[in-house]
Amino acid sequence: MERNSKEWNSFVDKQKETIIKRLLKYKNVDTASNSLIETGNLSPYQYYKSSTVSKYLLRALSKIEGGTYGICDVCQKEIPKERLDVVPGALSCVECDKLKE
Ligand SMILES: [Zn+2]
Repeated sequence: MERNSKEWNSFVDKQKETIIKRLLKYKNVDTASNSLIETGNLSPYQYYKSSTVSKYLLRALSKIEGGTYGICDVCQKEIPKERLDVVPGALSCVECDKLKE
């Protein structure tokens, strides 16, 4: 898909909506986790969602604003749209993600 094309722009708009929805969801988890943190009932999964994933999503949003959405943070190559469909908050391509592990 051509970047800067109409299709790309509407795709990015859709991704932005999805990201914001998820952020709001995790924000609720965050609120819940703050109260749970004191009782020690916060599951590692909830903690991961509220701390790590929100950061990724915020970074993805700022990339949308900056016009670099869909560009790998590591190698600067384009991330395939199929991957962005599955992971709207993806900041790097599959190859770079593999290297991180
Ligand atoms: Zn990459």
